[in-house]
Amino acid sequence: MNRALQDHELRPLFYPRSIAVIGASRQRGKIGYEIVRNLLDFGFQGKVFPVNPTADVVHSIKAYPTVLDVPDPVDLAVIVVPKEQVLAVVDQCGRKGVQGLVVITAGFRETGPEGAERERQLVQRVRQYGMRMIGPNCMGIINTDPSVSMNATFAYERPLPGSMGFISQSGALGAAILSLSRHLNLGFSMFASIGNKANVSSNDLLEYWDQDERTKVILLYLEDFGNPRRFTEIARRVMRRKPVIAVKSGRTLAGSRAALSHTGSVAGTDMAVDALLEQCGVIRALSIGDMFDMAMAFVSQPLPRGPRVAILTNAGGPGILAADACVSLGLTMAELSAPTKAALRSLLPREASVENPVDMIASATTEMYGRAMRVLLEAETVDSLMVVNVPPIMQDPFQVAVEISQIAQAYDKPVVGCFMGVEAIFRELQRREVELIPLYPFPESAARALWGLTRYAELRGRPERALLPAIRADVVGAEAILEAAWQAGRTVLAPAEAQAVLSCYGIAFPPGRTAQGLEAVVLACREVGYPVVLKMVAPGLIHKSDVGGVIVDVRNDGEAVDAYMELVRRAERAGLALEGVYVQAMARGVEVILGVATDPMFGHVLMFGLGGIYTEVLRDVAFRVLPVYLDDIREMIRSIRTYPILTGVRGGRPVDLVALEDALVRLARLVTDFPGIREVEINPFLVGSVGEPSWAVDARLILGNAPRVVVGKPLEPEMTMA
Ligand code: ADP
Ligand code: MG
Repeated sequence: MNRALQDHELRPLFYPRSIAVIGASRQRGKIGYEIVRNLLDFGFQGKVFPVNPTADVVHSIKAYPTVLDVPDPVDLAVIVVPKEQVLAVVDQCGRKGVQGLVVITAGFRETGPEGAERERQLVQRVRQYGMRMIGPNCMGIINTDPSVSMNATFAYERPLPGSMGFISQSGALGAAILSLSRHLNLGFSMFASIGNKANVSSNDLLEYWDQDERTKVILLYLEDFGNPRRFTEIARRVMRRKPVIAVKSGRTLAGSRAALSHTGSVAGTDMAVDALLEQCGVIRALSIGDMFDMAMAFVSQPLPRGPRVAILTNAGGPGILAADACVSLGLTMAELSAPTKAALRSLLPREASVENPVDMIASATTEMYGRAMRVLLEAETVDSLMVVNVPPIMQDPFQVAVEISQIAQAYDKPVVGCFMGVEAIFRELQRREVELIPLYPFPESAARALWGLTRYAELRGRPERALLPAIRADVVGAEAILEAAWQAGRTVLAPAEAQAVLSCYGIAFPPGRTAQGLEAVVLACREVGYPVVLKMVAPGLIHKSDVGGVIVDVRNDGEAVDAYMELVRRAERAGLALEGVYVQAMARGVEVILGVATDPMFGHVLMFGLGGIYTEVLRDVAFRVLPVYLDDIREMIRSIRTYPILTGVRGGRPVDLVALEDALVRLARLVTDFPGIREVEINPFLVGSVGEPSWAVDARLILGNAPRVVVGKPLEPEMTMA
């Protein structure tokens, strides 16, 4: 155990010298029995003290009526007593000087208000005694470090030692994971089922395992992120040292209250989770199976230098499937140079294909695999290799797997295998002690593994993020407008108010004014200067275009009169009380949408996408969870599918990306200063060509809470958090 782990406050949980199992049972099948059995069976290096008020002996070990009767010091207590007894037992542990608790017992927050109150009291006691606690409502913890060899779970399966750290928010899933990993021959360094995580959180463990040399990859199964800001801050740091792979279940943004803006309705999926993980460089797995597919590669393979994959196969069809799978994930097929192809040609039969995927055809021997592999791994243009094998009748796939695994070890490039007969190999592996490259039954999972390695290498190589630039803003002016609306009981601000607030933050709108009646409107048009746009102003009118309430490109007095009369008619038809007309100078540019929504879990989420009426149809939008770095904003802009439109396709001029970035920075600043803002949306923001102005032409702002300013709240991720 290294220094950092030695001194860490979670040490009593993972490196206890003695464990009391409170609620130990003599009855096979009971949790209190299984835990004692697992501790003994796994060869725990310290002392085990069963505690049971009615039994003298459990599992042939002397039992004690209470933890206070144990003659030796107790580092860790595993608690499995009925829920009504937990608080009293914790008090005894506190008096005994126990430092760590694993509370297996359920019946706390997860069951309702009464359970929540019990949990509150539990946490309060844990704090009061200065203990740390995993759970309640969990399946236990494991540390396979030979100096402790602790399996303090009631899982049926015996874990294998290895280099994965696994955090599971679900106990049942934790058990399933233990048996799956055993089947895949994958081992754990540490394992924690964290249950209600009332005291020790996934964030605490992430931080702790960052220090653990034995843990090479961290796997997370999460249902929520706890404190997402703290998660972001820790994950960003940890991923620089070891890969973090997460499976996150559950939707996040509430789609139901989204009707008021495009931002809300588009954000109705779990895109915020993707955004958050992307921002902090965590790899998101699509399922538990996918997570293990990637983990298998991470624990045994080096990282690739780039995305170029070579495929070596003994069958055409699977080779093509493998290539398709790689390309669809964003990997590229390596171009083979003339000398590489010549070398392959000299090794392989005439019918073989020496283009990538390299198809050796069904007669390929184990030796042929080996020689072709060496050529490909030595090729300058190859970053990683996938070996595909369909077992022909005469070849022993296990022998092929052993051979290629040995060769792969000599190179600093990742190699994965897609072996159609993989089941037989795994069975064989149970009997023999050999290290193999990761093997998958299907090309899609082998491709995911290579993608995971490649993506992580890329994320880890990402430069340190740049902080958001400071901007000047009229905070007082904005507050006055927001406050006035709030006082008047309006949470949805009038368009003019929204515009005014954004203007205080330096987001520019084209010149414009509101006018009532024909004469005043024509006069306003002249003052603003043709060409202009006329927009209806009516109480309760949200999407103006839906009722034909916007007439663009009005060029002279004659057109202005017509447009005005038309708006009056349309308002009447729509049953709207026309308050007036907003005359706005006509602007040019590419229409994009800039927005902020509030996620119940993550808080403010910044949104960017192609704008106008197509936003909801195309759903080509990107999210970033606040707080953000400038790089996050830049990556967000570049990540949408229609990004090429902004850089100028087919002779179009590139737009002013700096102006776009600047507007997003200002929006981020505004909602950071005013956490009470629930949604803001600028749709469209017209991004001008380089050298031309950019404008916001339509804005909406919705308050969720009182618009109190939070002075001096940093925009960049905070470094110290509770
Ligand atoms: P709404 O979204 O309520 O329908 P907008 O003010 O966004 O109303 O106007 C609808 C559309 O009209 C915009 O998406 C944009 O295409 C166009 N438009 C509005 N104002 C301007 C303007 N000042 N310059 C150019 N086009 C505009
Ligand atoms: Mg609009």
